[in-house]
Amino acid sequence: MTNQDTIFGKIIRKEIPADIVYEDDLALAFRDVQPQAPVHILVIPKKTIPKLSDAETEDSALLGHLLLTVKKVAELVGLDQGYRVVINTGVDGGQSVYHLHLHILGGRQLNWPPG
Ligand code: AMP
Repeated sequence: MTNQDTIFGKIIRKEIPADIVYEDDLALAFRDVQPQAPVHILVIPKKTIPKLSDAETEDSALLGHLLLTVKKVAELVGLDQGYRVVINTGVDGGQSVYHLHLHILGGRQLNWPPG
């Protein structure tokens, strides 16, 4: 599967606009178009991994980088009261875009359990 296959691939290649809040060699973070909280940002790898269950041992450092990117982005946007990180995976997980992404949700008290 290549970057052409999802809308997030188009965002990585800047073929469609996104509200980008952070970018480095390995990752990109941008605001979700349908925010579910006052702050709702997606962190994605530039490498195409369709879903978490497709990640391999060789992706260990990249997966760690994505979590540290979440931390960096949360600090950048001022989520000092906390936040939630979600990875929807596959059909039962409610995944709709098949390019691995970490949701950062914050800016309000979040409920538990999620639906
Ligand atoms: P998921 O359901 O976990 O696959 O999440 C996909 C997320 O991508 C949803 O929250 C969508 O609102 C979001 N989304 C879809 N297209 C775009 C886009 N062009 N820019 C920003 N967010 C998007």
